[in-house]
Amino acid sequence: MPGSEISTIPLLCNQCGASLKVAENTNFAHCSYCNSQLKVHRSGGAVFSEVVAEIKERQDETDNRVRILELENQILRLDQRWDQMQEQFMIHPKNGRPYLPDEKSAAGGILMIPFALIFGIVAISMAGEIGFLFLLIAVAAAVASTISSNNKRKEYQAAKFYHERRKADLRTQIQRLRSPIDGR
Ligand SMILES: [Zn+2]
Repeated sequence: MPGSEISTIPLLCNQCGASLKVAENTNFAHCSYCNSQLKVHRSGGAVFSEVVAEIKERQDETDNRVRILELENQILRLDQRWDQMQEQFMIHPKNGRPYLPDEKSAAGGILMIPFALIFGIVAISMAGEIGFLFLLIAVAAAVASTISSNNKRKEYQAAKFYHERRKADLRTQIQRLRSPIDGR
């Protein structure tokens, strides 16, 4: 057995006191009883161990900070993508400022219906039966516009919901990584 050629020395775990056998010239050991990382010190003829879990903790902390930065970058990219998406959803009325579908809801389309009725009544009084046809067309256009803006609003709200959930999820991950660092 080649393993038997390595000479070992006894070492007490500084964390739990278990007696371990480690390779003679090793500088680090692992206690299989308490799972501690140990640094092996030699002083004169004495060999003793020191728990280096703290070193590991510091490493974890660095890993966490790197991970947090990555997640923060993801949020930035998510926001940039959302800005672009909002641009696509933006409604550009012929007159007035552009707006997002959920800002004015479907009011625009619904408001068109009384106008269509007034327009229709005027058309009937001026052109009789053909005026009635105009009334039907105007009302149909108003209804179609309401449905279409409703669909657009629903699409927008679904996209917004998804975006906000992704963002909240990333924020939760950051919060979870941050708490052991700040909790000191
Ligand atoms: Zn131990």
